[in-house]
Amino acid sequence: MDRLTDEKIISDVKENNELVTVISEYVNLKQRGKTFMGLCPFHSEKTPSFTVSREKQLFHCFGCGAGGDVLTFVMRMENLTFGPALRFLAERAGIPLPEVQLSPNMQKRKAERERLYQLNAFAADYYRKVLWGTKTGEKAAAYLKTRGISRAAAEKFRLGYAPPQWAALVGLFRKKGIALGEAEKAGLVCGGGEGFYDRFRDRLLFPITNARGQIVGFGGRLLGDGQPKYLNSPETAVFQKGDSLYGLFQAREGIRRRERVIVMEGYMDVIQAHQQGLDEVVASLGTALTTEQVKLLKRYTDQVYIAYDADAAGEAATIRGLDLLAAAGVNVRVVRLPSGEDPDSLLKKEGVEAFQRFVDESVDLFTFKLAYILEQEEIATPDGKARAVQRVFPILSQVKNQIMREAYLKQTATAVGVSEATIYDEWRIYSYNSRKNKQRLDIKNNQRHTNDITYQQQPGILPAEKNLLQLERQLLRGCLQEKDFFTRIKQALKEIKFSAPLYTELLHQLVEWDVSGEWPPPATAFPPETRALYIELLTENTMNPLPVDVEGCLKRLEQHQIAEEIRRLQREVAVSLDLQASAPTPALDLQNKLALLNRLHKKLREDFPTFSGLR
Ligand SMILES: [Zn+2]
Repeated sequence: MDRLTDEKIISDVKENNELVTVISEYVNLKQRGKTFMGLCPFHSEKTPSFTVSREKQLFHCFGCGAGGDVLTFVMRMENLTFGPALRFLAERAGIPLPEVQLSPNMQKRKAERERLYQLNAFAADYYRKVLWGTKTGEKAAAYLKTRGISRAAAEKFRLGYAPPQWAALVGLFRKKGIALGEAEKAGLVCGGGEGFYDRFRDRLLFPITNARGQIVGFGGRLLGDGQPKYLNSPETAVFQKGDSLYGLFQAREGIRRRERVIVMEGYMDVIQAHQQGLDEVVASLGTALTTEQVKLLKRYTDQVYIAYDADAAGEAATIRGLDLLAAAGVNVRVVRLPSGEDPDSLLKKEGVEAFQRFVDESVDLFTFKLAYILEQEEIATPDGKARAVQRVFPILSQVKNQIMREAYLKQTATAVGVSEATIYDEWRIYSYNSRKNKQRLDIKNNQRHTNDITYQQQPGILPAEKNLLQLERQLLRGCLQEKDFFTRIKQALKEIKFSAPLYTELLHQLVEWDVSGEWPPPATAFPPETRALYIELLTENTMNPLPVDVEGCLKRLEQHQIAEEIRRLQREVAVSLDLQASAPTPALDLQNKLALLNRLHKKLREDFPTFSGLR
């Protein structure tokens, strides 16, 4: 990769994506003097500590420490790595990214993908001609008619028909001189060495496209008898199951215009909806939404209506998908259709106005789940009431907004038929117990992988640990402010150690960089694991330029460490004393420990006379 071009592109992309404008698409910012403030999107807070400087083109949260430039922001917000974030912003600003950016290997893969799109388009074109222009196709055209699909709607979605022959497409590829090995990679033909044959035979074909309208694969519905009724393209270099949303390309404009998307289940639902003018509709092809699909949806809107068949909506896999959406910060509403109906049948029978009424009566995710639980439990019995309430609480505990939670508690009380006072009491017991459990779990998790840079924000973390982490972070920040600070800290840290592995790693990397001069080092000197943290620290220094009190921090760190060591020894001594209660003289090991303990106590008293942290 050409480094200079690379940096030129990065600065082009940054110049054309003004930070305040970009962030405003996600956060409600208010101007205060020279800076803009809003509620931090990276931690939950009630008063704004998230600051954006238009002048410096940097953001920083005084609450959680998140910070950086427009690229860092998009990386965290959209959950992207550096390359895709750059592409995301380049697309937003309409800057073409030159090919030189790709490594030879990536270029090769890109060419391969382009070839698959070409072959798919070629096949779709052929199938379309068979559907509308041949005698064989009449059967499929008639089928569409019985399903109430117009030619225009079918053309909008590029429907086609694969004839029953085994080698129709194979023959055409041969005639055009297209290598069948390539067609096999596209999933259009099968057989390989044994002799190639068409994958799709006697099927109505629904081309599946990506958001740019390129065909990535096909879904095929059998018209005659036999199995399976639906057959999809196999996974290829451009088609992965669960990665795409059917109809997204055709729905993009509609979604933007109406600021919402309606997710249905199948091909026919989508085509019927678009035909009737509901053009913000896509299908998830199966009811269990995947993480990829959630990401895709979130790029277009955060208002999602789910309109699945009544029977499918309550299934566990469906609900997991809806939880994924909610967790991504999407506002989910569930459209409840009458039992036995799907959107296609309802739209066909009663039209778009009737369907719209169901959309208007859609319920939020909590109400939907509550209704589902109430259906399953016998709430006429005391037992059933109690069980229902215990099943509702875990759902309620995911609702962070107090006002909403209170409203939901009331709703539950009414629905189950118990008094509000009782349900509040039960809720308090439940949330007390689950907080305690969570604290235990969080501490365990913290000990296991402290590599997550957001671990300072975890609710279960103890104040003492949090203070320690803040101290370590301050020291790292100091390192970057002044080279002298760094030298001092490096020397002091021979005696004391950081507790957080990620901080330790960054420090090691700083030490390694130290031989080559420039200070602080450029962010590109760091691997992805530490880069985000590094940029955060640099940003914090820019936004908050007061020098770090390095000596003070070091002293507190040392004091903390001695206190920790004393606590550890005390525990060990206590255990040894228990074990040796009957022995005439204490073992040598124990004597040593007691002596060390004395020395440490003395040191703590002398070096830190005001310290009172030992309990
Ligand atoms: Zn924050």
